[in-house]
Amino acid sequence: MNEITASSGHAAAPFDDSLYRQTLTTAVGALAWVDDQGRVLEANQSLAEWLESKTHLVAGKIVGDLLPGLTADRWRDIWVSTAGNKVRTLRDKLLLPSETTCPVELTLQRMHSGNREIGVLRVRNILAQRQTEDIQHLQYEVLEAVASGHPLHTVLDMMCRRVESLAPDVICTVLLVDSEGRVHPCAAPSMPPIFSQSIDGEPIGPKAGSCGTAAYRGEPVEVTDIANDPLWEEYKALALPLGLAACWSTPIKAANGRVMGTFALYYREVRSASFFHRQMVNACVHLCSLAIEHQEAEAEIHRLAFYDTLTGLPNRTLLSDRGRQAITRAQARGRSVALMFIDLDRFKTVNDSLGHSVGDRLLQAVAERLKNLVHETDTLCRLSSDEFALLTLNCNADSASLLAEKMLDALTHPVTIDDVDLCVTAGIGISIFPDDGKDFDTLLKNADMAMHQAKLAGRNAMRFYQPQMNEAANRRLSLEAALRQAISAGELSVYYQPQIDLEHNALYGVEALVRWQHAEWGMISPAAFIPLAEDCGLIGDIDRFVLDQACAQLATWQRSGWPVPTVSVNLSADDFRRGDITQRVTDTLTRHGLAANCLTIEITESLMLNTASPTLEQLQTLRASGVGLAVDDFGTGYSSLSYLKRFPVNILKLDQSFVRDLGIDSDDRELARAIIGIGQALQLRVVAEGVETAEQLRILTDQGCKVVQGYFYSRPQSANDLESWFSAGGSAFAQRQPPTNDEESREGMTT
Ligand code: C2E
Ligand code: MG
Ligand code: MG
Repeated sequence: MNEITASSGHAAAPFDDSLYRQTLTTAVGALAWVDDQGRVLEANQSLAEWLESKTHLVAGKIVGDLLPGLTADRWRDIWVSTAGNKVRTLRDKLLLPSETTCPVELTLQRMHSGNREIGVLRVRNILAQRQTEDIQHLQYEVLEAVASGHPLHTVLDMMCRRVESLAPDVICTVLLVDSEGRVHPCAAPSMPPIFSQSIDGEPIGPKAGSCGTAAYRGEPVEVTDIANDPLWEEYKALALPLGLAACWSTPIKAANGRVMGTFALYYREVRSASFFHRQMVNACVHLCSLAIEHQEAEAEIHRLAFYDTLTGLPNRTLLSDRGRQAITRAQARGRSVALMFIDLDRFKTVNDSLGHSVGDRLLQAVAERLKNLVHETDTLCRLSSDEFALLTLNCNADSASLLAEKMLDALTHPVTIDDVDLCVTAGIGISIFPDDGKDFDTLLKNADMAMHQAKLAGRNAMRFYQPQMNEAANRRLSLEAALRQAISAGELSVYYQPQIDLEHNALYGVEALVRWQHAEWGMISPAAFIPLAEDCGLIGDIDRFVLDQACAQLATWQRSGWPVPTVSVNLSADDFRRGDITQRVTDTLTRHGLAANCLTIEITESLMLNTASPTLEQLQTLRASGVGLAVDDFGTGYSSLSYLKRFPVNILKLDQSFVRDLGIDSDDRELARAIIGIGQALQLRVVAEGVETAEQLRILTDQGCKVVQGYFYSRPQSANDLESWFSAGGSAFAQRQPPTNDEESREGMTT
């Protein structure tokens, strides 16, 4: 048949072209001949099959019937635009008999048939291409949301909604798996909330529905029939009444393979996932892992910026942040806020003697104990090393003091680390908004000041801030500045106090004691500035100065024939921490041409607790070189006999607190006797300090003490004065009388 006629009664001219007809039948893909009115003149087999029809039934239809987007007007425009052999390509939807549509790409080209023009319309199925594009678009949107910093929940919720709009037959959910292997719904916009609530916190496992099992196995789990699948045994009673019939879940993994969550598609009918769904899941699982890892990285950065890594407590930055917010809120509501500054006592000794790892664990244990005492709304923070702070809301002085007591109490129970029981005590300073400061920084500064006062009161004490503390702190600051200045300006000098050898009625040696003569404040007592110098790191400079002066003076005396056999110099823990003290001592002795046994070093008992530090080694080296080693103020500290054995000391200095009341206090008498006895037993020389009266001298002599030092013989005095003292017969020691009141006020010390 060479001729075709339109099946409707319209005036479609007969169409006769065997060549074109051949094209129609042999062409790959769906094809139709159409006229300028949009009428189908003829359709090929593949188009007819697609429409589940016959070719002759398709012919005669209007393109708008098949492609509802091509209205008559639109067709006219398209037809006009193809004049002059132009090819036009456009997208539309083909209406299928199932009342669904399929995205198609249309290509229209005009051809001549006799004296009229007809169009060849190719119809290409672009469903797969459209789906790929949809997935790409989804990926783009999700990545953009991640990059814009939206919260994880928002990003994943949006992703689920997009998936559900592309695949209207699914319910999409994302669960997160925590470090204990429990699931937590993160996004499930179309899932009935009761389902999400019920599974929140459920453990993953070998039979834990699709998601719990997928997370447990680390591989996808496809359950096509929830009602009859053993994996859903325990959960189907929850799922079935909600109309959930099938569920395909895929684990979301981190780059290192850890399962971070699951991505699931639920169906309302018993079925498996379509190809498109599988493609979508592939893309989404990857997106989920990116989004979750991104959030974890952000959380880690946040943790590092605002939390202390050792204890996990908030750090100073977070504390001040919360402190400022708390103050603004308290101000608006007329409430109070308490800030406590907590500082552990002698933590440095733990670190130095038992090592930093023990110190670290002790801090963790302390943090844990304190954490147990505070409310959720409080902020307990580690400020630095052994300093903690607690910000507590709606807290007045009474409740602050109760809480501080509880904290001190909690710390008193020993902490056991590596089988060693460590007793921790602390000093707590408290400041309260609004009375003690209107802003956070002032509150913190004042709590710190109160803490320092608590420390001065002894161990395990607390103090509330008081305005006078400010003055004390200011005084301390000016004293520190003045001391720095004094050291560089050479305002320090050295005094010497004789030590008397009672057995031989001769000079045993002199102790070098630093003096600070201030132009305005007069003579300042070392008792006032030595602890300050130790605190602010100036003690090393002072001790080096005294060591050098004392050695120089002794060398001068010896050259001039004065009967001074030795000089004692006080050293601090700081001198040993620097590690160069042995070298310095040797150099100084050499420089002044002195034998090592001309020098005695006085150290305190607390220094001897540093068994783990190189202190012991340095002391051994010094002693081995011939330098004498004295334990100063013996009896006031730990008085442990074991370290007397371990440390190479050869002199014990009986503290003046025992000597003071020798005449009236029988306990002191017995203690003095015991210490002198220990000295004798260990073959140590005992030097009694602070001997002021003949009676004290008599008792000590009776107890077997051979060397004494004190005002009874001489106050510490300048080298010149000491020389006059020698000349005036000071060496006839035993005949000296107790000092008169006049003499006592001569030194005129001020603090
Ligand atoms: P210390 O080493 O125990 O020195 C003995 C202290 O007792 C001296 O006080 C001395 O003046 C005082 N004293 C001596 N005899 C008597 C007495 O009969 N009665 C009374 N009541 N006191 C007596 P000073 O000079 O005020 O020194 C106090 C402390 O300061 C010293 O105690 C020592 O621990 C420290 N110190 C002094 N100079 C230095 C130094 O150059 N370096 C270091 N690191 N510490 C020093
Ligand atoms: Mg001393
Ligand atoms: Mg002493």
